[in-house]
Amino acid sequence: MEKGTQDELRRLTALGLHHRCAQGDLARVAALTLEINRRKKERGAVVCAHVYQAPDIILGIGDLVGDSYKLADDCRKTSAAEIIFCGVHFMAETAKILNPSKRVYVPSKNAGCSLSEGITAADVRRLKAEHPGLPVVTYINTSAEVKAESDCIVTSANASKILRRLYEKHKALIFVPDRFMGANLAKELGKTPGKDIFLWNATCVVHEKFDPALIEVYRKRYPGLVALAHAECPSELIKAVDFMGGTGDMMRYVESTNAAAYLLVTECGFGELAKLRFPEKNFIAMCRLCPYMKSITLDSVLALLKAPAAVEVTVPADIAARAKVAIDKMFELAA
Ligand code: SF4
Repeated sequence: MEKGTQDELRRLTALGLHHRCAQGDLARVAALTLEINRRKKERGAVVCAHVYQAPDIILGIGDLVGDSYKLADDCRKTSAAEIIFCGVHFMAETAKILNPSKRVYVPSKNAGCSLSEGITAADVRRLKAEHPGLPVVTYINTSAEVKAESDCIVTSANASKILRRLYEKHKALIFVPDRFMGANLAKELGKTPGKDIFLWNATCVVHEKFDPALIEVYRKRYPGLVALAHAECPSELIKAVDFMGGTGDMMRYVESTNAAAYLLVTECGFGELAKLRFPEKNFIAMCRLCPYMKSITLDSVLALLKAPAAVEVTVPADIAARAKVAIDKMFELAA
């Protein structure tokens, strides 16, 4: 083995990646991360890695790591010439909207999202016609075309705060596309769906399937357990847990508390990262894989670096300009 690969193997081991790879696999990972990091540096590219990505991507090649909000914010501040987005397509589109002069790539053509695919710009236009004058608040998990029809974008990290601020000026609003998140926010803010908040019916294929009955089973088995769930989960599940939030909120909650055990009800990549960040804490597995997020691998990132044009993300200028107004509104109201 070459010295460079040996050093990379040591670096990945120090990051704790050996806990999730057999030695032969870690050597293969090290060869890939070494080459990806070299090529990325040559191109002046930065790798954004969402917390639902696998740890070999987050720790091995990620430069900017976080939830949708943090990555959008990081992307608008980066001075890198190119952005490689290890996340799903709508995230890469958001990065492109915020950086129109930069090249943005997503390493898989299958990195969609059931929420983003669950609503179109025509659907939003129809909702606006049905509820004239109401602001359209749109979860970031949507296409650029849908964002362009919106007044303000939110992420799970700031939705509650932004909705509160909008309700100071508006009696009612339209929230799309996640019906579970919309219902959870309505409950938190004391609003009534169909009266103060009008929802769409898309769902996340990962978070909609968790079984609320299992939370009680885990509580009995692990005394002192604290259950945390993502805001995309159905309300029945949210009722059964101790904390609801976005992934950034969940990570901060884990960091600042000292429970006997944590049940993380979200995509599996988040739990893997939490285990690596807090090896002294006890995490109980109740997770599901997102097929879209997990369509990205180190091999697909290397393939991108060899033939980037095939996976470049583009957004028509008129759509990008209108979508940016709604995204900028989020940064203003979330500040
Ligand atoms: S976890 Fe759900 S919301 Fe996130 S990318 Fe996958 S399908 Fe979309």
